Amino acid sequence: MAQTPSRTAVADRGDTVLHEAAVLVAGQRLDSEFQPVVNPARVHEVVGRVAMGTGEHVDRAVAAASAAFPAWSQLSAHERAEHLARAAGAITAAAGPLAELLTREQGKVLWESRVDVGGAAHILGYYTGLAERLAEDEVFRSDSRGTIFSGRRPMGVTGVIVPWNSPVYLAFLGISPALLAGNTVVVKPSELAPLTLSAVLEMLAAKLPEGVVNVVPGGGEAGAAIAAHPGIRKVFFTGSTATGQQVMRAAAGNLKNVSLELGGNDPAIVLESAVVTDRLVDELVQSVFTASGQICFNVKRIYVHRSHYDRFVERYTAAVDRLVVGDGLDPRSTIGPVNNRPQFERILGLLDRTRAAGATVRVLGTALDPDTWDDGYFLRPTVVTDVEPGAELVSCEQFGPVVPVLPFDSDDEVVGLANATEFGLAASVWSEDREHALRIARRLECGSVFINVHRIGASDVSMPFGGFKGSGIGRGHGITALEACTELQTIADYVDVSGFPGPSR
Ligand code: NAD
Repeated sequence: MAQTPSRTAVADRGDTVLHEAAVLVAGQRLDSEFQPVVNPARVHEVVGRVAMGTGEHVDRAVAAASAAFPAWSQLSAHERAEHLARAAGAITAAAGPLAELLTREQGKVLWESRVDVGGAAHILGYYTGLAERLAEDEVFRSDSRGTIFSGRRPMGVTGVIVPWNSPVYLAFLGISPALLAGNTVVVKPSELAPLTLSAVLEMLAAKLPEGVVNVVPGGGEAGAAIAAHPGIRKVFFTGSTATGQQVMRAAAGNLKNVSLELGGNDPAIVLESAVVTDRLVDELVQSVFTASGQICFNVKRIYVHRSHYDRFVERYTAAVDRLVVGDGLDPRSTIGPVNNRPQFERILGLLDRTRAAGATVRVLGTALDPDTWDDGYFLRPTVVTDVEPGAELVSCEQFGPVVPVLPFDSDDEVVGLANATEFGLAASVWSEDREHALRIARRLECGSVFINVHRIGASDVSMPFGGFKGSGIGRGHGITALEACTELQTIADYVDVSGFPGPSR
C-alpha cells in the first residue's frame, strides 16, 4: 500500500470538485479502492468518492494509533483540551460549506446539516470543559495507615464506528470524550455519508499530534475489522441493533469494552390529561419528520388517549400536510429525501404491506419539484391509522417519514403498549399534569423520557443518553461518556500494615 502526501479533502477533477473520504493514517492518505457517493436528491449526481477500507487499512491505523498513544496519554488533560479547543476553532471556521456538503451527500435539509456539523465544535467544546474532572483523583481513605485513592486512566486505542444518519454529530459524541481522556482513535465513517465527516476529521487530525486521529472509511469489512482487532481496547458503536450484536460478538475476542448506541422505536404518549394545542401538534410533527424520520430518537409511533384521538388525527394530518419535500439545499424544502436506496425501498415495502393489512395510509405533504421527484429518494410524509398495535409498522424501527397513530383507553394499557418492544431508547409523555406525566415516565422501559417535547436539542450533550434492552449498552453524552472511555484505577498506598490479618515479622 503506497502512501500519498497528505492534502485537503477536496481534489480537483477538471472543473468539477470531487470530495474524497480517504483512509487517513498518521496524517497520510493511503491507497484504496473507492466507490462513488451520490446525492440522494439527484442520484445521478456524484458528490464524491469514498475509500472502501479493508482489514489491512485497519491494521495500519491501529499501529499508528498505538504508536501515538504513549505521548498523547501522558499529556495532562488540560494540555489535551487545549489541542481539542484549537481543532474546534478550525472546524467552526469551515462549518458553512461543510453543512452544504453534508446536505448534498446525506439529503437532510440545510438547518439539520448545520446542527450536525455544528455538533463537532460544540461537543469538543463541552468536553474540553471537563478536563478538570480527569485531573482529580478521588480519595477514599487517608489516615495514619495510608491513603487509598482512584483515578481515571485512558484505555488505549479506541474504535469509533459511525452510521450515516447524523455522521458528524454522532462521531464526535464518541471521539471527543475518548481523546480528552487520553485515548487515540480509529474512526470509521459510513460509506453512505462519509465526505463531510472525513473532511472534519482531517482538520482535527491536522491539529493533533500525528497518529492520534486515524480514519478508515468504508462498509462492514472495515467495521468488523475494528470490532475484532486485538490492538483496540474500546469500541464506541452507533448503528442498528443487528450490527451492534455483531460488534459485541466480535469484541468478545479480546474482551473489548463496548458502548453501543443502537436503534429505537420511540413512543409518544398523549395522555388524557393533555390538551391538544397547536404547540403539541407542531412538536409532534417535528419529532417524527425531522431528517425524514432518520434519527434514532425520532418518535416512531404515537399513542393518543381515545378522548383526544379523532381531533388529534384531524389536526395532525392537517399539519403534516403542510410539509414540503424536496432537495435539502432548497430553502423551501421542510424535509429532504431519505439517504439511500435500501432505506427508500424498505419504507415503500413497509407501506405496501401496511395497506394490504387494511390500515388507512394517508400520504401527505407536497412534492416541491414534481419534475425531478423520481431523480431522488423522495418520500412524502405519511400518517397511518386503523393499524393493529402489533403490526409491523408499529413494532419495527421504520427510520423514515411514516408514523402510525393509535388510540388507547387507560394508563396501564398505554404503558404496556409502549413497553411491548425489543427497543428502549427514548419516549415522550404529553400532558398538562406534570405529576401524571412523571408517573407514566417512570414506568417506561427506556433510557430517556421527554415531557412535552421530543426532538433534536432535547437530548442535551450533558445529559446521559442511551438505551434499555435492544437499544444499547452504556450511556453516551456527559461525564458518563468520559468515564466510559477510561478505566478506573485504584491506588492503595500503605505506610502501616500492622492492622492486617496474618502473622507480622
Ligand atoms: P448500521 O448498523 O447498518 O451501520 C452502522 C455502522 O456500522 C456503519 O458505519 C457500517 O458500515 C458499520 N458496520 C456494518 N457492518 C458492520 C460490522 N459487521 N461490524 C462493525 N461495523 C459494521 O446502521 P446505519 O444504517 O448506518 O444507521 C442507522 C441505525 O443507527 C438505526 O438503527 C438508528 O436507530 C441507529 N442510530 C442509533 C443512535 C443512538 O444514539 N442510539 C444514533 C443514530 C443512529
